[in-house]
Amino acid sequence: MSVRVRYAPSPTGVPHVGNIRTALFNWLFARHEGGAFIVRLEDTDRTRYVEGSERAIFDSLAWLGLDYNEGPDPGDPSRDVGDHGPYMQSRRVETYNRYADQLIEAGHAYRCYCTPERLAEVRKELQRRKLPPKYDRNCRDLPGTEREKLESQALPCVVRFKTPLTGQTAFNDIVRGDIVFENDTLDDFVLLKSDGFPVYHLANIVDDKLMEITHVLRGDEWLSSTPRHVLLYQAFGWEPPIFAHLPMILGPDKAKLSKRHGDTSVLAFRDSGFLPEALFNFLGLLGWSLDDHTEIIDRETFIHQFSLGRVLANPAVFNREKLEWMNGVYIRQLPEQELAERTAPFLEEKLGRTVDRTLLQPVIPLIRERVKLLTETVEMADFFFREGELEYDTKTLLGKKLADAPAVAATALQAVVQRISDLEHWQHEALEGAIRPQAEELGMKTGELFGLIRVAVTGRTAAPPLFETMAVLGRERSLERLESALRRLQAQSPA
Ligand code: GLU
Repeated sequence: MSVRVRYAPSPTGVPHVGNIRTALFNWLFARHEGGAFIVRLEDTDRTRYVEGSERAIFDSLAWLGLDYNEGPDPGDPSRDVGDHGPYMQSRRVETYNRYADQLIEAGHAYRCYCTPERLAEVRKELQRRKLPPKYDRNCRDLPGTEREKLESQALPCVVRFKTPLTGQTAFNDIVRGDIVFENDTLDDFVLLKSDGFPVYHLANIVDDKLMEITHVLRGDEWLSSTPRHVLLYQAFGWEPPIFAHLPMILGPDKAKLSKRHGDTSVLAFRDSGFLPEALFNFLGLLGWSLDDHTEIIDRETFIHQFSLGRVLANPAVFNREKLEWMNGVYIRQLPEQELAERTAPFLEEKLGRTVDRTLLQPVIPLIRERVKLLTETVEMADFFFREGELEYDTKTLLGKKLADAPAVAATALQAVVQRISDLEHWQHEALEGAIRPQAEELGMKTGELFGLIRVAVTGRTAAPPLFETMAVLGRERSLERLESALRRLQAQSPA
């Protein structure tokens, strides 16, 4: 039997961490087993539909490198890749109706004509009696004549499953072990709504069957739906797939990961400067482990080592600091050229123009040790690419020590400019060799002088190592900026 697994997102927004972790585990399992990874859009609940979700789902998968063997064509989701389609449930509505009819004919389902008003009444009454709000099965055993009458009037109706009233439904879950549900806790749940659209349970299992899914790996929150699915499989006379419910993901405060833990959508991670390989690694450890200590695991090792047996049953904790740390590790592993490539779009967005990669590359070694996010690279390095005068406060330029002595600062800068203008080799050792001794000559502390030069050439007080920075910035730009600072100071100091 060759493994076939699926990721079945509903287009209700941009995929978040929990959801995409499910995609990742399915993908890893498929790749480990040499099986097929299938993407299916569960888009039959139009009330929860969010415009643009499909794009966000495809982009998230593509960004993380989770390629699929079958599913909607990302370029045109109304087309399919694979021979088990359509892979969008909204295009399979007829199929679900056919299978619902089959269940009705076999006596496993029935049409229910109860009006929403009646159902609300029933619910209210049960609530008043502090009972679980279940359907009272009014239409389950309608006398034949009454049913015929209702049917002949073509009244709006839903199709409900005839849940066994007694007994138990049991199944095995690879992660959670043997699970048993008492049937009397289950409702006669709806299979088809009055508009003919299926509910999740019906569409999901019909598709899993028709798409020949062998293993269902999904979030823990679906565990309570599984007995309904198992009952449906039994009613159809189908063998259920193997189930593995992945552990819940908690925030650092141990509450279920949610909006209040910040935006944890995949595309938000991308846009805030995370590398896909870092998020991949991080997500892969949310509920799975290689051993008890290995944190940095590359894609190939994940594929090679992944097994359902090592999926943990305990909730996983989402720790953003750990993710940032991991991102820093991956940033430092990238070759310079590659890191420049990946940083460039962020820089371009900030500067509003294109940036020459070959100018960016020499900047990379100056900052890569200090950054955890690609966006930080931009904050640290954009001054290399600014055209024209830098923006900073003259106060910042002077710092505390020289706050009242712009003339002293001007003299110092002038001396520096003179000393370095004609340097034969514009390299950091030569620059340092020329500038460092000047502090003493000028009667200044090195820190003071370097601080002054730093603000003049970078526009900021914290920047990469000064002489390396000047070397990369180049003679012309460095001198231009020093002279511009000098003019500012001269304008401040009385002649
Ligand atoms: N459409 C469901 C979701 O949004 C799929 C659940 C399942 O995998 O069965 O997660």
